[in-house]
Amino acid sequence: MRILVTGGAGFIGSHYVRTLLAGGYPGYRDARVTVLDKLTYAGNTANLPMADPRLTFVRGDVCDAALLREVVPGHDAVVHFAAESHVDRSLDNGADFVHTNVVGTQSLLGACLAAGVGPVVHVSTDEVYGSIDEGSWSESEPLLPNSPYAASKAGGDLMARSYWRSHGLDVRTTRCANNYGTRQHIEKLIPLFTTRLLTGQSVPLYGDGNNVREWIHVDDHCRALQLVLTRGRAGEIYNVGGSVTCTNREIVGRLLELCGTDWSRVRFVADRKGHDRRYSLDDRKIRTELGYRPQHDFGPGLAEVVAWYRDNPAWWTASAEGGAAEREE
Ligand code: NAD
Repeated sequence: MRILVTGGAGFIGSHYVRTLLAGGYPGYRDARVTVLDKLTYAGNTANLPMADPRLTFVRGDVCDAALLREVVPGHDAVVHFAAESHVDRSLDNGADFVHTNVVGTQSLLGACLAAGVGPVVHVSTDEVYGSIDEGSWSESEPLLPNSPYAASKAGGDLMARSYWRSHGLDVRTTRCANNYGTRQHIEKLIPLFTTRLLTGQSVPLYGDGNNVREWIHVDDHCRALQLVLTRGRAGEIYNVGGSVTCTNREIVGRLLELCGTDWSRVRFVADRKGHDRRYSLDDRKIRTELGYRPQHDFGPGLAEVVAWYRDNPAWWTASAEGGAAEREE
């Protein structure tokens, strides 16, 4: 069994690869993994067990069709994580997002089709649905993305659908809530606030802080992806909900407590453009069809994450200084 993992040096992809290679997914204990990753500022080979003989690492761009023609054949399945993933960056430069998240996804799907490789699990996000004041989104809700990041992910989702519908390629799409866990780049809310609080700095909270998000432990997300890979159906979309829903204010309150400080460290700053107010997924489909349940409780999970950032300053100091990829080479 050979699995191709794009974006496997990033936050979620590297959790998936480490668990896979550690034998954490039944039936895949002997699987060999190829990671294809461009090593942007968000990719870091230190996230991966590079010496593992079952891991092959290829540095490259998921938009590079010639490279994909070499790399893709011979695999039995693909899990596609590679993406530009930070909403704030997409507000400054949408082009990189279209390139990787739309063109890259199409290039990968095309290469899989040509090589007869599948299933492909296309890893997407709840942000493609937009913002919902009340109730929850099922998989059949319209896509109403509000940020260039979300719009580019929605473009990738539509490409995935079209390759299934037009060509019969076995693609399965997941749309997951906000992930938390170790090794997340410090541009994202939980690591940013944690590392700033641990180093005596203030933290910038957007708007009134009452934006509502669902949070899922990264290992629960990866387990859901593995379920979709092994038991999901071609052409289907699966929402993957979290174990807790809370406002950004509530997250900050928890982080202040875990870091032993108080609200005097919080600066309320002008809201993010187009900031989605509330996300909420109806994930009954993956629960009933595939038996998915999140296993991690948010309280202890968040405490572990804060402890990890406290214990591993070398990991995040280097990424704060301008690029894990450069650091690794
Ligand atoms: P990340 O930014 O930590 O990692 C992205 C990885 O992709 C990095 O290793 C980067 O080097 C690589 N990459 C970027 N552009 C590439 C390209 N052109 N070619 C090859 N590799 C490239 O992101 P993440 O948080 O791990 O997210 C992974 C996936 O999960 C993304 O598709 C994202 O949209 C999706 N997702 C994330 C969340 C979340 O909360 N983080 C929630 C739902 C879905």
